[in-house]
Amino acid sequence: MEEPFYKDGLCFECQRCSGCCRFDPGYVFLSHTDLEKLASKLSLTEDEFLEKYCVKVDIGGSFRISLIEKENYDCIFWRDGGCAVYDVRPLQCRSYPFWAPYLESREAWDSVASSCPGINRGKLHTRQEIEEHLARRKMERLITI
Ligand code: SF4
Ligand code: SF4
Repeated sequence: MEEPFYKDGLCFECQRCSGCCRFDPGYVFLSHTDLEKLASKLSLTEDEFLEKYCVKVDIGGSFRISLIEKENYDCIFWRDGGCAVYDVRPLQCRSYPFWAPYLESREAWDSVASSCPGINRGKLHTRQEIEEHLARRKMERLITI
């Protein structure tokens, strides 16, 4: 089998530009584990958390659950210059930018660099670390209704 282009690892270090938490419209889809951890962190039931912080997103035939965005497109948890739930932030946030579509090819990976200044900079992440992110995202199923 052909080796992935990231066999020697990939450099990424967040430059804290906040671009992936603010400014542009997008979704932060939650897994069942995310919901459980976030609700517990805020001492809410899962239903209370869903009511207060989430929105249902039609993905064509079914729905996913995303965190709400503010009117200016900032994530609902972007507060005082940072993530208010950082230690339990959703897997989607924790695993960025090691997402399957970006790891399909060098071109796909490099193309994300235009929107994330942390890509191809700083810390080297090994192939094993990268594949752990991929495996976790496969294992932690997103909530689908
Ligand atoms: S866009 Fe990249 S560098 Fe900016 S906050 Fe997000 S992960 Fe960090
Ligand atoms: S949950 Fe935190 S890390 Fe994820 S988008 Fe919102 S503010 Fe950013």
